[in-house]
Amino acid sequence: MISDAITRIKTVRKRIAEATRRFSRSPGSIRLLAVSKTRPVEDIVTVFNTGQTCFGENYLQEAVPKIEALRDYPLEWHFIGPLQSNKTRLVAENFDWVQSLDKLKHAQRLNAQRPKNLPPLNVCIQVNISGETQKSGVHLTDLPTLAQAIGELPRLRLRGLMTLPTLRHDFEQQRIPFRALRIAYFKLQDSGLVLDTLSMGMTGDMEAAIAEAATFVRIGTGIFGERESGVQDLSWTSKLKFGQITEN
Ligand SMILES: *Cc1c(COP(=O)(O)O)cnc(C)c1O
Repeated sequence: MISDAITRIKTVRKRIAEATRRFSRSPGSIRLLAVSKTRPVEDIVTVFNTGQTCFGENYLQEAVPKIEALRDYPLEWHFIGPLQSNKTRLVAENFDWVQSLDKLKHAQRLNAQRPKNLPPLNVCIQVNISGETQKSGVHLTDLPTLAQAIGELPRLRLRGLMTLPTLRHDFEQQRIPFRALRIAYFKLQDSGLVLDTLSMGMTGDMEAAIAEAATFVRIGTGIFGERESGVQDLSWTSKLKFGQITEN
């Protein structure tokens, strides 16, 4: 229910404010990304009307029609899903940020494909902090080289790092991967890169991320409620007046 989203986002904002105080973070230093994957445009508008302007999407097939339908709203769109070479153009043309960059090849394509009339694309490098082989993200050992190379691409603006660790329930356990990302982030800053974004923490672990210096928390279920399990429901896309999405 959509009225629930209004109540829920208030609760999320309260959690962020409480964690900001509890961990002595500066007021206003943590931004909220509303993760709207699988949610219809109506829900995004409802959440926008509470003052939320940043939205995150994982799947281009559903994201592009939503962005198109909401062109008249002053929204900031973040791509947070897995990138594929043949779809980088759609990302470069439609999004303000990419938080899930983990390959130089993708960065070079985005750099070449970013339209001239748009500002540089903001990017975060996704780090596979726990080193699990099946997960996306660059390993810590390869991060410095990748970050330097991305930092040199003129149509991209490297803002920082993102991670998506396995959700743990114990607070101290939750902090471990976030602390590792924070240390990697400070090391990159020491090496001369100008960064301002540490994107970490979701509905279940945002307090631990805030304790470890997160500047962006990415919240889906905490705002919109539980997602349908299994395959995504894309039936709502037929309600939009939008032609075939061409890729590449
Ligand atoms: C889905 C998703 C989120 C939000 O997760 P919730 O647990 O629903 O808050 C955050 N980040 C990424 C990369 C996601 O895919």
